[in-house]
Amino acid sequence: MSEKPFSIAIDGPAGAGKSTMAKALAKELGAMYLDTGAMYRAFGLYMLRKNAVNDKAAVARDVEDVDIDVRFVDGAQRLYLSGEDVTSAIREPEVSMAASTVSAVPEVRERMVALQRKIAEGQNVVMDGRDIGTKVLPGATLKIYLTASAEERARRRCAELAEKGMPEPYEQVLQDMIRRDYQDTHRAASPLQPAEDSVHVDSSKLTIEETVTLMKKLAVEAISRAADR
Ligand code: C5P
Repeated sequence: MSEKPFSIAIDGPAGAGKSTMAKALAKELGAMYLDTGAMYRAFGLYMLRKNAVNDKAAVARDVEDVDIDVRFVDGAQRLYLSGEDVTSAIREPEVSMAASTVSAVPEVRERMVALQRKIAEGQNVVMDGRDIGTKVLPGATLKIYLTASAEERARRRCAELAEKGMPEPYEQVLQDMIRRDYQDTHRAASPLQPAEDSVHVDSSKLTIEETVTLMKKLAVEAISRAADR
């Protein structure tokens, strides 16, 4: 493996399985895993509590002072908002849409991207989000664009929410997901789009294990190519 730290960027729409796969891949590669969506969610929750998610001026102003802290406890990422552990609270369905709305504001993206780069600096990292390959880590060792059909993504998200004790009807989850994907792909600031040099992986018909195996193969090849350069 190369001396220079490697970075794996995983982007894609909601519910494609990015965090599950990225977490497993990071473990396999002995790298740190950073879930960037959790950071936008923490700020979305902050603005939701202030009842000001749609107030762009307030969003742009508040992101400068908000106290968001990413900590790693026993290897797991936890999110703190002004010292409060919001790791579970940010998974509430209403926070998903709030995160998507605040993340379209350029000042929010600027601050989050700077924080993400700082956290990952000098480390082997697997990072997932919407703009990792295009913006946060443009020189990533490997860029993966992970997708699955909207129906499959909604089905998985339903199962995940039920498991966390927050069940939602399938139709509702599907509609929310389509709305959020639309917002994420149509915003002016860093819209969700595959990086030109990304490898597309469609996980619709693959199991978690099959997807991680494929991604690990791609990562090992890319890391060894980078080492030969
Ligand atoms: O990945 P997750 O669903 O937790 O992300 C929540 C929202 O945060 C996304 O819908 C997207 O709008 C935003 N996000 C982003 N850029 C990232 C990660 C997430 O804009 N790198």
